[in-house]
Formats: sequence, structure tokens, C-alpha cells
Amino acid sequence: MHLGIDLDNTILDATTAHLHYYNMESAQKFLPEDVTDFYIYRIYGWDNLERDRVYHLYGHDIHWNSSPLPRAIEELHLLYNEHTISFVTARPHIFRNVTLDWLKHHNIKYHNIIFTEDKLRECNKLDVDLLIDDAPHYAEEFSRSNKPVILYDQPYNRNVNNEFVFRANNWSEVVKHINDIERFAKKSGCVI
Ligand SMILES: [Mg+2]
Repeated sequence: MHLGIDLDNTILDATTAHLHYYNMESAQKFLPEDVTDFYIYRIYGWDNLERDRVYHLYGHDIHWNSSPLPRAIEELHLLYNEHTISFVTARPHIFRNVTLDWLKHHNIKYHNIIFTEDKLRECNKLDVDLLIDDAPHYAEEFSRSNKPVILYDQPYNRNVNNEFVFRANNWSEVVKHINDIERFAKKSGCVI
């Protein structure tokens, strides 16, 4: 299958890294459990302009210092041998280099990487079979197009509930869903 895979809060812990730098900048003390909004800057009360200023100031360090989620790297290694892996991230192009360096540093193999906010269009263009992501809006958008989404569980996506959305609490569950979706597709005659 062709897997579209998000980076932030899907294969790596972006929340902790963002909180470290955003707390430093704001002198506030938010913890991971306080992040109940996908758009983390909103809990700081920042508008888009302020968010852009802080993100551009610390974005390189935030992305470089994010830790992989448990078993993500091991499972990605195994998936790489069986599937086509396209990372699909909404990070802006200015953080392309640090993103590629981080993937290399962690020895993560992949076939493509796309930087886009329009994930559905790019995934359709590339014939991606399913998306693995944490963002509520992408999960809703893909499932409205009858495209399966494996939703990596995060506090801010718990109200997403749809027949094309498969919730995973960890990377073992992600792999289980991939196998189930592949089995179902083969059984129902879809060529995947
Ligand atoms: Mg994400």
C-alpha cells in the first residue's frame, strides 16, 4: 500500500518540544495535558502574527529537539520493506532542511516527503491509500472523501468519530489497523 504519514504528533512528540520553547517565551508553565487544542499557540492566547513570530524564532530547535514516539522508528523500518512511505507534513518549507536532517539523524527511511497544507489534494495526486495523522481537520476531510485515516490519538482529537477513521493509541495499533485495512481491501477486491 501507499501510506501517507504525518510527522508532528504522529511519529514524533511535537507537543513537548513546542511547550518547552513556548513556555520559555511566555514565562507560562503549560503541561502536555493542558494541550486540548490542536493549535497549541491558542492556549497561550496568541494571535496568528504572534504565533508566526515565536514559531519562526524557535521552529528549527523545536523540530530538531522533538523525540520520536515510542516504537515509531522500529515500526516504520518494518513498514518500509512492505509499503511505499510518503511523509506528508504541513510544516512550512523553511523547516525542510531541519526536517530532513532529523529523519536522517534517526535513521528513518522513506520514499517521498511532501510539505503541504492541502494533504488531501497531494495524497490524491500521489495515489496514497491511507493517511496516518493526528489532526482532527485532516481526519474529517479524508473521511468525507471515503479515504481511510488512522488517527493517532491525542487529547485534541478525541471527538473525531467517523466510519473511515481508525483510532490508534500507539504504533502497534497503527500497524494493526494498516494490516486490517489491507486485508479488507484485498477481500473486497480493491487493488491496493
Ligand atoms: Mg500532526
